[in-house]
Amino acid sequence: MEQHPSKERTLVIIKPDGVQRSLIGEIVKRYERVGLKLIGIKMAIPTREMAIKHYYEVGGDAWLEEVGRKARENYEKKGLQSPFATNMENGKAIMEANAKYLSSGPVVAMIWQGNQAVALVRKITGSTEPLSSDVGTIRGDLTLDTYQMSDLDQRSIRNLIHASGNVSEAEKEIPIWFEKAEILNYTHLQEKILYDVNLDGILE
Ligand code: ADP
Ligand code: MG
Repeated sequence: MEQHPSKERTLVIIKPDGVQRSLIGEIVKRYERVGLKLIGIKMAIPTREMAIKHYYEVGGDAWLEEVGRKARENYEKKGLQSPFATNMENGKAIMEANAKYLSSGPVVAMIWQGNQAVALVRKITGSTEPLSSDVGTIRGDLTLDTYQMSDLDQRSIRNLIHASGNVSEAEKEIPIWFEKAEILNYTHLQEKILYDVNLDGILE
């Protein structure tokens, strides 16, 4: 039987800049108030190996190529030429920079569950570049980095959050960060009002 949509899970990591900006509470609040259920949370200082695993084992060469392609597009949009010969080379440089970024300090890893959790979390998080992220999103409201500045300073774009890009990414990422026993199965009382078909039990 197909899984009910309310059971979808996604991985969110508050990156080191989010922790250092004292935004843990603000960020958790935004995912919590939409109706998502928190089923796993921990603080960790990722090693470089862990960060590489997170990006490369999950996405592989296809992710390197895609992230490099997006970067090239960004250069071209601005009428600039990419300094990298291939998308793959650019992708590798971004992965190295990401490994440094993610392992630079404590992060908060979380699993959120709910209807279309992956897409919903992406919507609330906003697009990759904070300055062009929509107002109302976490990245758009709470920080200000740009590709222009991160390129100039040869580092990752600092955008507070990692959020799984699609369901298959989420399914691969969750076991990298969480043991089975750290994922909690429980009923949240608000699931009644969000998902219960009959709404029995409100009236006395
Ligand atoms: P998202 O986090 O929005 O899913 P990607 O999966 O494409 O974005 O990239 C992962 C992370 O790598 C981004 O969140 C960002 O920190 C960094 N990154 C991506 N593209 C670039 C780029 N062109 N320059 C610098 N950093 C980048
Ligand atoms: Mg991504």
